Amino acid sequence: RIKNSGKNGSILFNAEMNGSVNRRHALEQDLRRALQNNEMEICYQPLVNTESTALHGVEALIRWNHPRYGRLSPAEFIPIAEDNRLIIDIDRQTLRDACLHVKALHDAGHPGLKLSVNLSPVMVERDDFVDHVAATLEITGFPSDCLQLEITEGLLLNDRSDIVEKLESLTRMGLSLAIDDFGTGFSSLSYLQKFPISTLKIDRSFVQKLHQKNDDACIVGAIVSMAQGLRLQIVAEGVEHVSQFNYLRSLGCDVVQGYLFGAPGTMEELLGRYPGLVSSGTAAPE
Ligand code: C2E
Ligand code: MG
Ligand code: MG
Ligand code: MG
Repeated sequence: RIKNSGKNGSILFNAEMNGSVNRRHALEQDLRRALQNNEMEICYQPLVNTESTALHGVEALIRWNHPRYGRLSPAEFIPIAEDNRLIIDIDRQTLRDACLHVKALHDAGHPGLKLSVNLSPVMVERDDFVDHVAATLEITGFPSDCLQLEITEGLLLNDRSDIVEKLESLTRMGLSLAIDDFGTGFSSLSYLQKFPISTLKIDRSFVQKLHQKNDDACIVGAIVSMAQGLRLQIVAEGVEHVSQFNYLRSLGCDVVQGYLFGAPGTMEELLGRYPGLVSSGTAAPE
């Protein structure tokens, strides 16, 4: 509903609508060129071990440095890339480059550092998906037991035996699977037994309201105890305040991620934040 129903109000509204349609159209056009011109950049966000506050690993998060619109969030362009299937190129390139970047950190004296990469359902559903991941590990020399792939609940919604088989092939290769944005998708939890999942990432919408709403504390507490019962690792996203961190630690949450420990940054920024990365094994938030 438009609040201001006067003439000016509706003209403004239409102009805005038109602007966002034009922008989406422009982004669609620009996406192919962006990949060829290296306008995509991988940022890394620290994943921190809750107990020790040592660096557990990093999550690769793609950014688009658009020549006209500046740095774009994946939330804006991933849906477009999924529609025109360029997401396949984006996800392949991100997986390969992130493996190379983190392999370099392993070689520089930090073996065992974990890498988490987001994958679109469009990518996972392709017939060549498992072979492609295997080939990427081979080409990059990245150790499979350091790689975690993040998928969303939607992919697991229907009982697709081909998806179960694919995910089992991946875990046989030694890598692990996480459910991203856990708690925002579907109410059925039966898929947790059907699929070889090792990690649940609690969506930041629950974490962010921890200090305001008792309901969210109950939901987070229930997710953590369920995960413990199923022997799943639990990662909390969007941790911004010490109070949230302390609460999650008291629940027994394994790993945390959020602005409290660092926003996603370029590999250079990550190394600046965690200078220990190239020599010693531990790091702490500033
Ligand atoms: P995600 O995988 O759930 O990633 C976490 C998002 O939360 C990131 O947004 C991150 O910047 C943000 N975040 C982390 N800590 C905090 C915090 O403390 N406070 C707040 N407010 N936000 C925080 P980002 O980077 O914009 O990415 C959005 C989504 O785009 C990701 O959500 C992921 O689903 C998708 N994505 C990112 N990179 C890729 C990619 O290479 N391939 C695919 N298929 N999807 C990607
Ligand atoms: Mg993710
Ligand atoms: Mg997430
Ligand atoms: Mg999320």
